[in-house]
Amino acid sequence: MRTLVIHNPKSGFGSDAIFQFMRALVHPGDECVLRMLADDFTAREACADVDGFDTIVLSGGDGTVSTLLHALAGRPIPVCVFPSGTANLLCANIGNALEPAALARACRIGKTAKIDLGEISWSDEQGEKHMRGFGIMSGTGFDAQIMQAALPNKAIMGQAAYFAAALANPRPAVEHFTITVDGEVYERDGITCLVANNAMIQGDIELVPDCRMDDGLLNVIVAETEGAAQLLKPLAFGLVDRTGKAIGRPHLESFAGREITVTSSGPVPLEIDGEVVSEGVSSYAARVLPGAVRIVVDALSPYGSADDGSSRFGESDVIAYPK
Ligand SMILES: [Mg+2]
Repeated sequence: MRTLVIHNPKSGFGSDAIFQFMRALVHPGDECVLRMLADDFTAREACADVDGFDTIVLSGGDGTVSTLLHALAGRPIPVCVFPSGTANLLCANIGNALEPAALARACRIGKTAKIDLGEISWSDEQGEKHMRGFGIMSGTGFDAQIMQAALPNKAIMGQAAYFAAALANPRPAVEHFTITVDGEVYERDGITCLVANNAMIQGDIELVPDCRMDDGLLNVIVAETEGAAQLLKPLAFGLVDRTGKAIGRPHLESFAGREITVTSSGPVPLEIDGEVVSEGVSSYAARVLPGAVRIVVDALSPYGSADDGSSRFGESDVIAYPK
């Protein structure tokens, strides 16, 4: 088994979990290459030579992993997403067991599922065009302000930094959004407009029900509130009804489609998978890349099946239950 591990040492708390994973993964005769990303890495270069490997492991936070996944779009190689970031929302949405040894076992068993990615393009304040891939969600407005305000506290507070940041700004600006979903136009007022490939956020709360990353559709989610206090209502509902199927989500509206454009009344910050990429964006376009990447899944994942089946690389039981 030949594995390439692409690791961002700057992600999250800098834990050693990835080394425990590699120790659990390798057996005599295997090869495991560790690629440590530099600060100025480009995803295309980091993924340039993946073809000779059986499995690619992407280890980092959501921002790192999403850009690398986008660079791997269209390639048939199994990719394992390893949680080395602060929030690790993509891992939470994939739903695999998160322990290093369990993920190593999933890689050896080699069961995979094809998932969609999102692609977003926008022009910055200087009129320069940009494009990026995303795995979870992108958005303009209050969500981007939260991500930015959380930044200095992520290392010490972890996920709580996001909630603290949300409560620190009780009066976010209300924008008017013109949203086009596969040619259909919607006019809405709200504090944020998100395009989501996945809807599970911090606290295992699903913003909208039935958002899957294997249906070839993105979800547009608009928070039609006037202040952070009203945002507490859907979050509180989320705590008692995590999937959103029982009592729904007040103030949150959702549309699903393949091609989406969003225009806001004023320039607002843009956030992609938790990273603020621009301070002032007036419009953006997003599209789905259906079945773009093949990810490793285990029996716990909603994208896997309960039966593990035969192990592709063998010796998977040794990993799960060491003597
Ligand atoms: Mg979907």
